[in-house]
Amino acid sequence: RFQRGYATDKKGAVAKFHGQKDTDGLYTVSLIEGDGIGPEISQSVKDIFSAAGAPVKWEPVDVTPILKDGKTTIAQETIDSIKRNKVALKGPLATPIGKGHVSLNLTLRRTFNLFANVRPCRSIAGYKTPYDNVDTVLIRENTEGEYSGIEHIVVDGVVQSIKLITREASERVLRFAFQYAENINRLKVRAVHKATIMKMSDGLFLGTANRVSKDYPNVEFDAELLDNTCLKIVTDPTPYNDKVLVMPNLYGDILSDMCAGLIGGLGLTPSGNIGDECSIFEAVHGSAPDIAGKALANPTALLLSSIMMLRHMELYDHAQRIETAIFDTLAEGKTLTGDLGGKSKTHEYAGAIIKRL
Ligand code: NAD
Repeated sequence: RFQRGYATDKKGAVAKFHGQKDTDGLYTVSLIEGDGIGPEISQSVKDIFSAAGAPVKWEPVDVTPILKDGKTTIAQETIDSIKRNKVALKGPLATPIGKGHVSLNLTLRRTFNLFANVRPCRSIAGYKTPYDNVDTVLIRENTEGEYSGIEHIVVDGVVQSIKLITREASERVLRFAFQYAENINRLKVRAVHKATIMKMSDGLFLGTANRVSKDYPNVEFDAELLDNTCLKIVTDPTPYNDKVLVMPNLYGDILSDMCAGLIGGLGLTPSGNIGDECSIFEAVHGSAPDIAGKALANPTALLLSSIMMLRHMELYDHAQRIETAIFDTLAEGKTLTGDLGGKSKTHEYAGAIIKRL
């Protein structure tokens, strides 16, 4: 499960990692520590990577938003760092509140054209949830759909918001989903859609999926209506354990949080934002301002994101070693943070993982 990265097949490498080792044999990774609990959970990742001998050098970058020509952007040095290193790990960012700012997360996705959002959700042994056998993989189109940001007032009291679907963006994320399915040897792809109602937009996505599927004869393909998926996945998630789900932006945003709920919440779920040139891996949860600076945060989601990142960088052995240490620590249940019912501090949990490496 999730044994391989995104470097892919003969049909054209989608999202292969292009980073280079330096003369010391290290890869440089841009690190966005983030706000609130971000620095604390980033420290855990740094400590564990260093104890595990992962060949990674961190380059801290600042993503404090800058308002330029009425638009939110980030510092040029940060953009240059991520473009140079091809990969970044990102802690949570507090969305700036105020007129003129769009979400920084959206800014990052647009700046680096991170077209696919990969969200695996796997039950964690030792952490009791209504289901203990969830293992879903969801891929969300990350650049358009309802989140294309095209909205306008028609007349007072009437607003139009455009759902933009293009063949190009659909094909890109669908090819990625099929190739990813082949890579992780989960040879079933299911497109989730509402083409019964959104006949043209979702119809284009679904039609593209049908066409693209012909290029992947080893992968079984089918499609399911979004409402049906929601009903079935909360009733019994097990039939989804052998599939890769792929869908337009908004559906993926919502459904991936629903899957996170099935394994105990956002605090445990990692994600990867994948582009052709650069990729950014991030915890799905927010900056948790209520517990920031108190060493109460659970770093698991950022750690699991960093493991996805190591696999993307084809550092499979390091990924496996750290991942096993995390899951064993959680399964033992002796050194858990407060959100998982334990009493340990962030660094004590990280220390327990380091002992198991
Ligand atoms: P949140 O995820 O920060 O917190 C929700 C609850 O979960 C809080 O009680 C918090 O203490 C807890 N929690 C979250 N992560 C945890 C962890 N790792 N360990 C232990 N407990 C954890 O959501 P919010 O309060 O709605 O948002 C706070 C800020 O984060 C906002 O500014 C929001 O815009 C931002 N945000 C950023 C991202 C991102 O960067 N990807 C995602 C969501 C929210």
